[in-house]
Amino acid sequence: MDVIFIVREKCNGCYACVRNCPVKAIRVKEGVAEVMDERCIACGICISICAAGAIQARSDIGIVWQLLGEHTPIIAILSSAFPAAFPEVQPRQMVAALKKMGFNEVMETAFGAELVCREYGRLVRGNEGKPILSSTCPAVVSFIEKFHPELISNIAPIVSPMVAMGRIIKWQYNPEAKVVFIGPCVGKKVESEDENVAGVIDAVLTFPELKEMLAMRGITPVSEEEEQFSGPTPYLGRLFSVPGGLPKIAGISEDLLLNDAVVAEGIDRTINCLRELAQGKIRTRFMDLFFCQGCIGGPEIDNDMSLCRRREIIVNYTSEGANPARTESDVEKYAGIDLSRRFANRYTELPAPSEGEISNVLGQINKLRTEDQFNCGACGYSTCRELAIAVCQGVAESEMCWPYLVEKLQSTQDDLLQAEKLTSLGQMAASIAHEINNPLAGVLIYTKLLSKKVAGGTFVQEEALGYLSKMESELSRSSKIIRNLLDFARQTEPLLRLVDINQILEQALSLVSHQAQLQNIEVVKEFTPSLPKVMADFDQLQQVFTNLALNAIQSMPDGGKVTIRSSVVDSEIKVDVQDTGCGIPKQHLPRLFTPFFTTKEKGKGVGLGLAVVHGIIERHKGRVKVKSEVGKGTTFSVYLGVYGDEKG
Ligand code: ADP
Repeated sequence: MDVIFIVREKCNGCYACVRNCPVKAIRVKEGVAEVMDERCIACGICISICAAGAIQARSDIGIVWQLLGEHTPIIAILSSAFPAAFPEVQPRQMVAALKKMGFNEVMETAFGAELVCREYGRLVRGNEGKPILSSTCPAVVSFIEKFHPELISNIAPIVSPMVAMGRIIKWQYNPEAKVVFIGPCVGKKVESEDENVAGVIDAVLTFPELKEMLAMRGITPVSEEEEQFSGPTPYLGRLFSVPGGLPKIAGISEDLLLNDAVVAEGIDRTINCLRELAQGKIRTRFMDLFFCQGCIGGPEIDNDMSLCRRREIIVNYTSEGANPARTESDVEKYAGIDLSRRFANRYTELPAPSEGEISNVLGQINKLRTEDQFNCGACGYSTCRELAIAVCQGVAESEMCWPYLVEKLQSTQDDLLQAEKLTSLGQMAASIAHEINNPLAGVLIYTKLLSKKVAGGTFVQEEALGYLSKMESELSRSSKIIRNLLDFARQTEPLLRLVDINQILEQALSLVSHQAQLQNIEVVKEFTPSLPKVMADFDQLQQVFTNLALNAIQSMPDGGKVTIRSSVVDSEIKVDVQDTGCGIPKQHLPRLFTPFFTTKEKGKGVGLGLAVVHGIIERHKGRVKVKSEVGKGTTFSVYLGVYGDEKG
């Protein structure tokens, strides 16, 4: 399983990882980020910046529980940064806590640093050639192997303190034992599996993983008694996690005038140093490089203490109870351990696209002209050109360009609207044909019957009158449909004059009152007196309120109440037509104002009433809103702008 991986379901496509990854090791496919193992240097930055928690490191908790459950001795080795990660815990209380969890012994990796740093001292002091690079930061080593293989021969061929400690245990101290390293860095998980040093570290826990395990067992290190570390005793090696620690332990001079050693911390500074070194611009004897601010600034230390405070804690711990003579004798004891290692060239190249290919992508995202290249960085790349190159290399997608995406969405929306319009138009044409064709077919049949009877001499006046009356009703139905259609589609502007809405409402109600009475419906008028006047077409508004009132009445076949309310709301006139009828199902709401949408049985409705209402109110620059609950009733609210003040 890969050490750093992305949980697809959690990735929200914000590209923060693409933006922050120092080596562009994140590929985006179908909008979701993916780690490219061949480029990833396991610096852990992406994990800390992913707000969605989609980028995660492999947890070794399961493996460690399993090891703890076996009968083989198991030894925890604590990174020298541990006092800074657990400031509230006395360092030796952690020994007791880990033993309680099941470890047989707890050792300090700082002793590995004692041996390793002495090796550095020998190497650097004898160096008359090219600058030597430290190999203690796994992310730096990975970076050189993957991006600057020409510098591999500069890397000190010395293992890290973690591997040194692993070798001390597995090759001399207790070859049977399993070794678990606990530290501040995800990169150590990758390093422990590197074929050039593998086999001495069985699992790597980060400090947060350790906290999780302690919590799972209910162990609180602060309440434990202090216990001694076992194994060889470190002294200055405890300073290893502090920037400048390695040269200090190794006795390498940091005298500025001698230019013997350069300490570079932080990603940008380190990458710049390495680039300039590759260009032959740096001549120092030794470069101590970290991607973090030393191991005490490692990404897996989850407290918010300053680096100064962390440094102080480490320094205090180093001096406290130090026994340099014992350290010297332990160093002698393990002097035979081979601390050498090799490195591998892991360089992989992404294809270099041609100018034509880059222009193609820039054209596709409408960024061909320099003035269109905003270089906004929203895609995760610093410039539009960098994004275009990444698209050509297959590690990014054009849709990562936000301005392009917005344009694309806009045009897709326009296309959808156009398609929707065409569909509605088609539906409307079909409905009109259907509505008008039926009565016409009826008329045609009666005409044919009549002419047959006249031609055959079987003409009976009464029968003919019956046919004519049926033809008249069919034709008047067609004519009504056409009139409604014209109302709906009427392009002529309303005939505007100052009108009193209450008067229009009275008029409309008088037209429907008979129908209401027949259906046992109570009509309640709640008119606000002396409403401000409105500039409107009297007849058209009357049609609006008649249609709404008729619909309200038709929704209450078994009686009920219709309330017509006029009021002034936020300098608009509001008219509510409220009924206690059947209500409108949610799924019908979006289609209510579409021509020919009806749920009424044939002959009772053709579905033009609300379309006409909508058309008229829109031409009056007003709005119609509807609220409805099935089984409880419906309220249509019409809003119209007021003309002038209350005095008109
Ligand atoms: P029609 O009345 O000819 O069906 P409308 O456009 O006036 O056409 O109304 C369309 C549909 O809206 C109606 O068929 C009905 O389903 C629904 N509707 C309109 N007003 C109401 C109301 N007050 N209560 C319940 N349903 C309504």
